[in-house]
Amino acid sequence: MDGLRHDYPAKSKSGGFSFISSNGLVAESLVPVYQSTTFPTHVSMATGVYPDKHGIMHNSFYDREKGSYSYSPEANWIQSKPIWAYLEEKGIKTATYFWVGSETAWNGINITYNKFPFSNSVSEETKIQQIIDWLSLPDTERPRLIMTWWHGIDSVAHKHGMNHISVAKKFAEQDGHLLDLINKIEAEDLWKKLTLIVVSDHGMTDISNFINVKEILKKADIQAKTSIGPAVAHIFLEDQKDLSKAIKVFQRNKFLEVKSKVEISNTLHLVHPTRTGDIVILTKSPNMLVSRKSNNPPIGMHGYNPENNKDMEGIFLAYGNKIKPSQINKVKQVDVAPTILSLMNIDIPTYMEGKKIELN
Ligand SMILES: [Zn+2]
Repeated sequence: MDGLRHDYPAKSKSGGFSFISSNGLVAESLVPVYQSTTFPTHVSMATGVYPDKHGIMHNSFYDREKGSYSYSPEANWIQSKPIWAYLEEKGIKTATYFWVGSETAWNGINITYNKFPFSNSVSEETKIQQIIDWLSLPDTERPRLIMTWWHGIDSVAHKHGMNHISVAKKFAEQDGHLLDLINKIEAEDLWKKLTLIVVSDHGMTDISNFINVKEILKKADIQAKTSIGPAVAHIFLEDQKDLSKAIKVFQRNKFLEVKSKVEISNTLHLVHPTRTGDIVILTKSPNMLVSRKSNNPPIGMHGYNPENNKDMEGIFLAYGNKIKPSQINKVKQVDVAPTILSLMNIDIPTYMEGKKIELN
């Protein structure tokens, strides 16, 4: 559920979230990877590794060898094996109804069932019907893992900010769809052998200050390629002689933290061999890095470092087979894929950086 912040499940009165809170497992939050934007977070949940390893640094980014990436359906940009590819290689059928990176084969490995191209006009009702149809297939055809993207509150929260009534309305709607899915699985009598995990990719916070990175470079007459996300920007200089000048120019803005590539701590998972700029610029909310002036700027945003912004934390809930009703501490996005494999009694590959979450 896109953009659903950690504090939302508790707001549910009679929907799917209140059902799972009473009958299933709820984690305090799901801590996203950094930068906490939709593409890196989805891919980290699917691969069990951080963005410096899977390479999807943001929804769009620049690679010194491959060039520019922007919301691409081409799975080979992902540099670590997604869970569906890992399972399909073992002959286990999987399905996705929209998940970043699952539209195309990954290094020649196809998904048995997937829906593409991505469209945000497909309703949750349509996805639920397809999920039930997949679950109703004969044993030999039925996928053992189904992953699906739902709208969550992301789009309304970007547009109106977290305190707007439309966010509460959208949450209530999604909460209702979740209950509908739970009830339909119940009607098929599948809970004895099925586990439902509900996650979000990031949270959301209100912002108010926009910093135009490209304009700063232009005014200083510095030529560079840029990968600009809301919280992290990478500057790839045309001429390395501009390094100290560019650092000084950005340091004049007190809302920016400016680092050369060699100065960035590995614990941030922002240093990739070909996708990290010569200079990396970081900012905190309520600031947002942008590449152009907008007449209609967002009010809600995410992407910030979850280590110092609790609003970035998302959700993790589970219900069904092998789930003991309980409340657990914070869990991490890189733990999602290992946890799924553990539920399926399949070995967790050593390349995964997360660990299985104890669910029972
Ligand atoms: Zn998102």
